[in-house]
Amino acid sequence: MKRIGLLGGMSWESSVEYERIINQEVRSRLGGVHSADLIVRSYDFAEIEKLQERGAWDEAGDLLAADAASLEAAGAEVILLCTNTMHTVAASIEAAITVPFLHLADATAEAVLAAGVSKVALLGTRYTMEQDFYRSRLERHGLLVLVPEEPDRTMIHDVIFSELVRGVITEDSRDRYLAAIDRLLDRGAEGVIAGCTEIELLVSSGDLECPYFPTTRLHALAAVDFAL
Ligand code: GLU
Repeated sequence: MKRIGLLGGMSWESSVEYERIINQEVRSRLGGVHSADLIVRSYDFAEIEKLQERGAWDEAGDLLAADAASLEAAGAEVILLCTNTMHTVAASIEAAITVPFLHLADATAEAVLAAGVSKVALLGTRYTMEQDFYRSRLERHGLLVLVPEEPDRTMIHDVIFSELVRGVITEDSRDRYLAAIDRLLDRGAEGVIAGCTEIELLVSSGDLECPYFPTTRLHALAAVDFAL
C-alpha cells in the first residue's frame, strides 16, 4: 500500500472526512484491521482564509508547495490537496514534488462522465465558482459547467465561511442550497458537483433526485484506488 500525503485543515471539518473515508475504504477493501498509511499536514484555517481574502495566491501557493515537498520527503507517494478552492495554486504544488498530485477536479470530472452527465452545476466558494481554474479543468474533460446566478452565489459562499467551516449545519441553509440547486436544474443542469469539501456535510445525495458528485468522497476514493 502506498503512503498518502494530505494537505488538509481547509477546513478540518472536511479533512476529518477525508481521513474517515480513506480509512474505511482501505478496511473494506483489505479487511481485517487494515487502515490507510497517511501523513497529514493540517493548517490553521484562519491563516489560509486571510491569504484568500487578500488575494495572496502566490504566497499561499509557496506555502502549500513547500509543505507538499515536506510530505514527499516524509515518504508520501501521492499528494492530495483537501480543498477545491486552493486548487487555484495546483501548478505550484505540482512543480514542487516528483510524486503524483491527484487533482480534485479530475477525480470529479471522471465520476461525472461515468454517470453519463455532460451539463453539470458547480457549487463552491466564490473563488471556485467565479475564477477560471476549476471550471476550465472540468471543461477540459468535455463537460459543460453551470454556476449559480446571484444572489445564490453569494449565499452559497457565505454559508461555507460563516457556517460549514465552523461546524455549523442548519436546516435553513440546507433548504436555501436545495432551492439554488432547483434553479440550476431549471437551467438545464443534469447533475450537481458539491465543489467545496464541506458542502457534503450539509447536502447529501439523499436530499436530491439528480446525480450528485460530492468531491471529498470522490477525491478520497481516488486516493485509495491509487494507494492500493
Ligand atoms: N474546503 C473548501 C473548498 O473545498 C473551502 C475552504 C477553502 O477556501 O479552502 O473549497
